[in-house]
Amino acid sequence: MSHVLAAVAWPYANGPRHIGHVSGFGVPSDVFARYMRMAGHDVLMVSGTDEHGTPIQVQADAEGVTPRELADRYNRVIAEDLRALGLSYDLFTRTTTRNHYAVVQELFAGLHRNGYIVPRVTTGAISPSTGRTLPDRYIEGTCPICGYDSARGDQCDNCGNQLDPVDLINPKSKINGETPEFVETEHFFLDLPALADALREWLDGREGWRPNVLRFSRNLLDDLQPRAITRDLEWGVPIPLDDWRDRPDKRIYVWFDAVIGYLSASIEWARRTGDPEAWRRWWSADAEGKDARSYYFMGKDNIVFHSVIWPALLGGYSGAGDHDGEPGALGRLNLPTEVVSSEYLTMEGRKFSSSRKVVIYVRDFLERYDADALRYFIAVAGPESNDTDFTWAEFLRRNNDELVAGWGNLVNRSVSMAAKNFGAIPPVDPAGLTEADEALLATARAGFDTVGDLIGRHRQKQAIGEAMRVVAEANKYLSEQAPWKLKAEADKPRMGTILHVALQVVSDANTLLTPFLPHSAQQIHELLGGTGVHAPMPVLEEVDDLDGGPAYPVLTGDYTVGARWEPVPLEVGRPLAAPKPVFRKLDPSIVEEELARLAG
Ligand SMILES: [Zn+2]
Repeated sequence: MSHVLAAVAWPYANGPRHIGHVSGFGVPSDVFARYMRMAGHDVLMVSGTDEHGTPIQVQADAEGVTPRELADRYNRVIAEDLRALGLSYDLFTRTTTRNHYAVVQELFAGLHRNGYIVPRVTTGAISPSTGRTLPDRYIEGTCPICGYDSARGDQCDNCGNQLDPVDLINPKSKINGETPEFVETEHFFLDLPALADALREWLDGREGWRPNVLRFSRNLLDDLQPRAITRDLEWGVPIPLDDWRDRPDKRIYVWFDAVIGYLSASIEWARRTGDPEAWRRWWSADAEGKDARSYYFMGKDNIVFHSVIWPALLGGYSGAGDHDGEPGALGRLNLPTEVVSSEYLTMEGRKFSSSRKVVIYVRDFLERYDADALRYFIAVAGPESNDTDFTWAEFLRRNNDELVAGWGNLVNRSVSMAAKNFGAIPPVDPAGLTEADEALLATARAGFDTVGDLIGRHRQKQAIGEAMRVVAEANKYLSEQAPWKLKAEADKPRMGTILHVALQVVSDANTLLTPFLPHSAQQIHELLGGTGVHAPMPVLEEVDDLDGGPAYPVLTGDYTVGARWEPVPLEVGRPLAAPKPVFRKLDPSIVEEELARLAG
């Protein structure tokens, strides 16, 4: 048993999230966290909305609201969507809390003290009308290499060359069309080259990572450059150094502040539990965290931040690296145990794009379909290790043929037949179990090792495949044993035995599927006559900022209750609930309706 940190990528609060976002890391991290809790580990699952940076500032300006107002709006929408999906965060918070500002500033100050943050004068583009920095991708002009007239400041989409905005011919701001001004500006840089050797040594000791992630991360180390960690912008965390902290025009870069969210959210969680040091059991590289493991879940476009940048910040703060140094007040901190990245989900063969309307938002999806139907699709057909495509036809097929006709049918016919003929969990005939009975029970029991091991190694697709294989075996068993033919009084004990075995396997399979399908798992637990919480759910709570800032909603929950990862023998004579279908069969017409929505 150990302390397991499930650190989930932070959604950017500039709009509602679509199903591509939750497929890559949202649902998979929840499956992992739920399983680890059921297996007896002490899990801390944290995340929140990422709310600083230029895109939110630009969008807020366009809408005539403050960045804080925009972030407030989408923080709430996103938190509500994640709650509806049943994602079991211990704390889902945000980057605009005072606690987060304080932790970011502590890391910045510690890295600065140890010599890993250095000042540099650079050339930056600013907007003459606002005085704000114009990030490279907000500048457009003619490519100096191929002459394409809509090249971006960072890259030409026509010839593919990397560009510097200062080289563009006729550069223009994409925000308001004005010509940017190029000025000298002083910024702080993270001295990544000084941390490269320490990072290489750490990466060499990693085990169990997906090989592509490890290879990609090692390659990045060969060409590490110092990286800017401050910007000319008002919207962000102030720089905690004398002569800088009161400057309204200089802020810490959003990527630097957002990755620190994993740590600040853990500290916020601990402070809210009344044991403010409790976070150290998941984070301390010293004795307090000796059995701690940390797993980071993200899309593949974010690997660099988790396998290089975040470990560099943690290492530099802890005093590892070419400049050595002393750990700050938070002590020596653990680097990630594993970086679990997913590939991309596309939709009907195209990239998700909110601007081109190739999208379905989580809340629109959940208005029409059940959360577990989506969770099932993500588990069996999500972008775990390959880019995969969401199509409505495939969603319909998976839902109707597998979830409803496979799992739902097994639950429904076992419970209905037992309820009708016995009203309760029937006893096993004193004549005993047949070989077929024993074999099915053994298959279900063996699933706990197989499925658990696969989830622990982030092979969720295979894991749910194994759980569904138990379901298929049980359906085959029922068809072969045909208990509905044993209506004669003399046959009733055998009918009871078959249904007892079937219900036991339904109960076991339900536990195996609980991390994937928590909503239906609770219902099935109740159909079997179970009481109390089987699969705990997150709740959305309004809380006060711990340090006097504005109140905000958080996702949290009590996950100490619920099923364990083990078979539980059914109690003979326990009354069964009135049977009702757990999953909804969808009409084939939804495919055309959804495609029409997408086109319209
Ligand atoms: Zn070009």
